[in-house]
Amino acid sequence: MKDHPRFQDKVVVVTGASRGIGKEIAVRFGAEGGKVACVATSEANALSTATAIYDSGGVARAYGCDVGEADQVEATFSRITEELGPPEILVNNAGLARDALLMRMKDEDWERVLAVNLKGAYLCIKAASRAMMKARYGRILNVTSIIGTSGGAGQANYAAAKAGLIGLTKSVAKELGGRGITCNAVAPGFIETDMTADLPEEMREKIAATAPLGRLGQASDVAGVVLFFCSDDAGYVTGQTLVVDGGLTL
Ligand code: NAP
Repeated sequence: MKDHPRFQDKVVVVTGASRGIGKEIAVRFGAEGGKVACVATSEANALSTATAIYDSGGVARAYGCDVGEADQVEATFSRITEELGPPEILVNNAGLARDALLMRMKDEDWERVLAVNLKGAYLCIKAASRAMMKARYGRILNVTSIIGTSGGAGQANYAAAKAGLIGLTKSVAKELGGRGITCNAVAPGFIETDMTADLPEEMREKIAATAPLGRLGQASDVAGVVLFFCSDDAGYVTGQTLVVDGGLTL
């Protein structure tokens, strides 16, 4: 733990905290003094992250919640408020992809991807912002994607959801700024997690060769930027989307 932790006793909610980028974000908040609500589809999935934080001397709890389901989100935020306190920082990181060419895309895959990636963020913001408005302080961070601005063949659902998150970010920034709440987004490029595990080796090499920084990203590359946006140093930044892609889309 650092001498002057940036997030001492701040109640932080991280969705999609069981693996990949979300796990790294949650662990970093825990190491910097935050009281971290680790949310995943099941409590069991989120538990390894909460345990890792706890074992390093931090404070964390695991929650199972499908962020696309309004009643589950409401119930989870009520429990978080009871058990850790009212949320002060919210990281909407939960996400999934169901890729298919448009003509073959199943309606249920369109709906599921929109529900988790976009509606989930809306529901969590709605649930967290009540307490933030009362406290006249809050930090909201949405994890979008470079696909949200560039599009992706076979990813119409994912691109639409991630583009939607950028509009949501700007609208929330405008609506809640007067209450001391910032809302920003990060747009990762290709990060080595379960989500990109199936990328063929040839594609990985191509991405690494195209990116000026010469490699795929790691979860830690994204987490550091997320924590910056949620820190006091970013107190006058809102409505922004920062691309974290090693320069791939330059
Ligand atoms: P990941 O390793 O596949 O992890 C996804 C996380 O989201 C897991 O914790 C998963 O929980 C959770 N999740 C999925 N559906 C959920 C639901 N309905 N309710 C609650 N939690 C749910 O993904 P990742 O690569 O770390 O991606 C994290 C975020 O970054 C996503 O929003 C993704 O779109 C975005 N992103 C990733 C990349 C990349 O290259 N990896 C690039 C751009 C953007 P369970 O373990 O319980 O399933």
